Amino acid sequence: MTPEALSADRLLLAPARCWLDGAFAAGMGVLVEGGRFAAVAPLHSFEGLEPLRLPGHALLPGFVDAHTHLTQGFGKALAFGEPSEIFRRIWVPLESHLDEETVFLSAKLAALEALRGGFTTVVDAGTRHETGAAIVARATQEAGLRCVLGLICNDAGQEAAPVLARAEAHLARWSGMVRPSLAVSIPELGTDATMARLAALCLEAGAPFQTHANEHLVAVERSIVARGLRPVEHLHAAGALNPAALLAHATLLTPRELGMLRDAGAAVAYCPVATQWKGNAAAPALLMGEMGIRFGLGTDATRADAFRLMDAGEAVSRVAYGLAQGDFSQGAGWTWLEAATSGAADAAGMGAVAGRIAPGLAADYLLVDLDVPELMPSRDLAWELVRFGNRDQITAVVVDGVPRLWRGWPVGWDGRSLMREVAARVEAAVAKAPIVKLHADSAAHRSAVRRGR
Ligand SMILES: [Zn+2]
Repeated sequence: MTPEALSADRLLLAPARCWLDGAFAAGMGVLVEGGRFAAVAPLHSFEGLEPLRLPGHALLPGFVDAHTHLTQGFGKALAFGEPSEIFRRIWVPLESHLDEETVFLSAKLAALEALRGGFTTVVDAGTRHETGAAIVARATQEAGLRCVLGLICNDAGQEAAPVLARAEAHLARWSGMVRPSLAVSIPELGTDATMARLAALCLEAGAPFQTHANEHLVAVERSIVARGLRPVEHLHAAGALNPAALLAHATLLTPRELGMLRDAGAAVAYCPVATQWKGNAAAPALLMGEMGIRFGLGTDATRADAFRLMDAGEAVSRVAYGLAQGDFSQGAGWTWLEAATSGAADAAGMGAVAGRIAPGLAADYLLVDLDVPELMPSRDLAWELVRFGNRDQITAVVVDGVPRLWRGWPVGWDGRSLMREVAARVEAAVAKAPIVKLHADSAAHRSAVRRGR
């Protein structure tokens, strides 16, 4: 097999296993035509078509990252050990001091990392760089990553009309590989009327309305002090909860807030690695699923690795809830595979575009090598991929029918050259940002600990 073989405009894939309707099926043929899945049926039913046989490989829909920040990459190794509200001390200072070139470089690097981690779509929450959205779009287009592109529309303390005009222009501007989305960073940074309008515009456009909600204790307390309401209660009171709403984190939810999300049809991006690294709590993912609250997995720009994300999703849920409940199953493997594919696509308003291998949907898929010692013997592939799966098993990443990554490296452009460009620019970009780091690096921490003894 070669990447060229996957580039054909009409292609019948014959994988050993195929992720269909929540289970792995054998003996299936998947016809790809013009960048879309055209038909999915038992292989023997495709008479007269020569299949591309993929022995030892599973065909999976590309993973969807329901929540990330593509322009935070230059700071990713600065956030370890930092207390919860990193955005105040690292992300906002860093992103607001990037120039157009460093916005582009960090977004393209993040896009490459996402593809390497098995993501074919990412939902970007919006860059804090003033004119950054179009630059982020160019970076993801060049990398070949599908992007739901957030535009931050915070209007607290300023006139709403220009913010809404920009929002409408953003919704009208993007389609195809870059789809639009509107965002308010946290509910208290938008006025109630504007948030309601943004959510309504998004619902009309089939785009997600993004915000961060109920992530940290300090954010919940601040909202109660300022508004007398918790963040989800605030969104509800503002009329900004609807089926377009995509709330990142939603870890600290009261039963009443869970009811508000369910009744509004809103979705949640469950970000388990963010919980592990800097959280106060874990989103009750299995409870949300049981209640009918839509959710998908998000990285929140921690690490762009879909297999480790699914593993973290299960592990965080089990430690936070399953230990006390004696729930060893944690929804089983399918729950996490769905949360990382069709669930995340649905949460992002893309259920009719990507996230499943089904006729009419975009041909966004992965070929995953099953012929590895970790999957020997194999009895329950869904669970095995959640707990044993590794991105080094991804032979090919295909987006929109085009091979974008082959054995971890880009097809048609030079990933290592991008890394050299980043290396040449990153130190100056970080040095010029007024970043406040509270936690020493690992070596300094060790010295301090040893001195303390
Ligand atoms: Zn975030």
